[in-house]
Amino acid sequence: MTPPYPHLLAPLDLGFTTLPNRVLMGSMHTGLEDSKKHFTRMAAFYAERARGGVGLIVTGGFAPNIEGWAKPFAGTLATPRAAVRHREITGAVHAEGGKIALQILHTGRYGYQPFCVAPSRIQSPISPFTPRELSARGIERQIRAFVRCARLAREAGYDGVEVMGSEGYFINQFLVTHTNHRKDDWGGSYPHRMRLPVEIVARIREAVGRDFIIIYRLSLLDLIPDGSSWDEVVLLAKAVTDAGATLLNSGIGWHEARIPTIATSVPRAAFAWVTQKLRRQLHADGVRIPLVTSNRINTPEVGEQLLADGCADLVSLARPFLADADFVAKAQRGQADQINTCIACNQACLDHTFANRISSCLVNPRACHELELVIHPARAKKRFAVVGAGPAGLAAATTLAERGHEVHLYEAAADIGGQFNMARRIPGKEEFDETLRYFRRRLQVTGVALHLGQRVESADLLAGGYDAVLLATGVTARDPRIPGQDDPRVLSYVDVLQHGRPVGPRVAIVGAGGIGFDMAEYLSVGPDLGHASPTLAPEVWRREWGVADPEAQRGGVVRAAPEPAARVVTLLQRKPGKHGAALGKTTGWIHRAALKMKQVEMLAGVNYERIGAQGDGVGLFITFGESRRDATVLEVDTVVLCAGQEPRRELQAPLVAAGVPVQLIGGADVATELDAKRAIDQATRLAATL
Ligand code: FAD
Ligand code: NAP
Ligand code: SF4
Repeated sequence: MTPPYPHLLAPLDLGFTTLPNRVLMGSMHTGLEDSKKHFTRMAAFYAERARGGVGLIVTGGFAPNIEGWAKPFAGTLATPRAAVRHREITGAVHAEGGKIALQILHTGRYGYQPFCVAPSRIQSPISPFTPRELSARGIERQIRAFVRCARLAREAGYDGVEVMGSEGYFINQFLVTHTNHRKDDWGGSYPHRMRLPVEIVARIREAVGRDFIIIYRLSLLDLIPDGSSWDEVVLLAKAVTDAGATLLNSGIGWHEARIPTIATSVPRAAFAWVTQKLRRQLHADGVRIPLVTSNRINTPEVGEQLLADGCADLVSLARPFLADADFVAKAQRGQADQINTCIACNQACLDHTFANRISSCLVNPRACHELELVIHPARAKKRFAVVGAGPAGLAAATTLAERGHEVHLYEAAADIGGQFNMARRIPGKEEFDETLRYFRRRLQVTGVALHLGQRVESADLLAGGYDAVLLATGVTARDPRIPGQDDPRVLSYVDVLQHGRPVGPRVAIVGAGGIGFDMAEYLSVGPDLGHASPTLAPEVWRREWGVADPEAQRGGVVRAAPEPAARVVTLLQRKPGKHGAALGKTTGWIHRAALKMKQVEMLAGVNYERIGAQGDGVGLFITFGESRRDATVLEVDTVVLCAGQEPRRELQAPLVAAGVPVQLIGGADVATELDAKRAIDQATRLAATL
């Protein structure tokens, strides 16, 4: 019998060591790196991933010195004392049979701290601090810091280091004229600009010996104007290979680039073609070094296909290892259908990082909380009823059943998923389907008794004689009480997304929260009002955002050429100021840019006065400001209400009155600022204790 995923699970011989498979856990800054007190947690986090069979782990970034800090007091490896602390991590990973490399991250002008340095004194758009321009001696000090960091990593027991040379960080800043205006031996011509990474890799190799992994993360596609040309990328790949790199990892896009590179709307493996391009070129030129491809690879099938197609020698998955520590082990056992798939939402990982919070995962709240959120077997088996199979109910039911309880899950609809069934219809949110696939299987594996199509009443629950009831009944759409809203051309988001009610070519959307934004995207993309959202083909997606072949265009970025909008959409909110201010820190800009591309008009600070017949459509009468005079009328074909949500918990009172222990979770508990992250986290934590 052919083993599953023969390419993905094939070992890779690096000469002095062998990786058990072709899956690299890409570097992620979890926030655990930045405090000594988190080292035990960090060790548990990585050990769990090593136990899950990943071929090679790369840690979150550690600065080689203060100048390289991402923020004040960021994790740093610069002294033997610090190296001793890292032994806890390497020991834990090795005890599980894993391998781990430390990422050396010098942020240069991206440093959110006053000591930041760069090739030239040019402030970045993502930090308020202007970097100090390094002298030639200053550059030499940075190189020595990289080398010292690698030596200390070896002393700490790491199997290797990754030199972060992409994403617009320090090394990348030397490579391009966008950030390097120097006239000395470190600037000007490309051989001068690329001197820094080549010296760093060569001198690290000299310091650590032959039997130590050096991964160089190479920016294949800068996605900024004045980025590297393709010839320069190839030249650098060859030079760092000659200098002693063991593996070349793919870096895509500077942090200041205005093109999404990992968000859920980015098609899977959207950038593997660039790694493939480099691999072909290097092979043609007789250069053999294993290449790692990355970005939006989240299933074993995708990884296997990329390797089978010759795109790369390894695949890098980062966030998928937050979502499921056992990704590789499940693939090996032929249980890919049990993998908890990363949906690329960024909500609990990158959004946390940017808010200075410890990362976790929307679909797996145990990520980075392995020591504190432990799913123990129950001491005494109980009978639970869970009402509602949205994210909260699903997480609660499966966790309770995993612990050995008898669980009955009731869902009024014909299928599980709750509001995720609407979310997954939004263009670019197709990944949400994976969470439903995961839970569908998980319900079977844990033995939850699932009762679909059953809208339970309190009497049913009382008759069931349960030890406790968890109400995960979710929400109802808030009624904005606009006079005239009973017009048949006024619909709620549920009418549109769940019931497929037709929407005309001109639309006004009341409410610009998460759902209002999603609705605007859904309606402006079209093409018609069927239920399935159109998934963008990768080449259409590239055209929409202006991603080009770096061989044709320096940096791989051209003018965006979006498809025309399917409808004329106006998105309204009562509060003044920017639309989408509460959207995710790392994804809000993408949603705003996507709507701008579709020429969605945004109106803020409006009062909804009334709705009534207007011309050949329906009029939404609005005013601005406190005086509420001089109404403006928007003549549209359809008004869609996305005015927020209220908890649905009518079952609570009768159960409490009858003395049944009841717990509210998810939207049934608090609807304000509800998202699936909070719903799943709350449900899992509660179920872990009952
Ligand atoms: P729900 O998902 O509302 O589930 C409640 C379930 O209970 C429903 O299936 C309902 O049928 C069932 N039920 C109710 N009463 C009964 C009864 N008496 N008997 C049996 N069953 C009953 N969140 C994010 O985090 N990120 C996103 O990107 C995101 N995008 C979204 C996009 C859209 C278009 C929508 C609509 C929502 C989105 N959300 C997103 C929000 C997210 O889906 C919700 O926060 C989440 O679903 C709430 O989970 P829940 O389990 O509390 O409730
Ligand atoms: P929301 O984010 O709370 O937005 C509700 C919108 O309706 C706001 O624009 C609000 O702004 C407006 N509104 C509130 N009361 C109103 C009233 N009485 N009349 C008219 N307008 C009113 O809620 P949502 O959009 O329904 O989303 C529900 C939850 O799903 C949110 O908590 C969100 O986090 C989650 N979600 C998340 C994402 C994501 O990408 N992370 C996507 C979709 C949904 P004004 O008061 O200024 O008008
Ligand atoms: Fe993936 Fe979202 Fe989890 Fe981050 S929070 S790892 S993007 S599923």
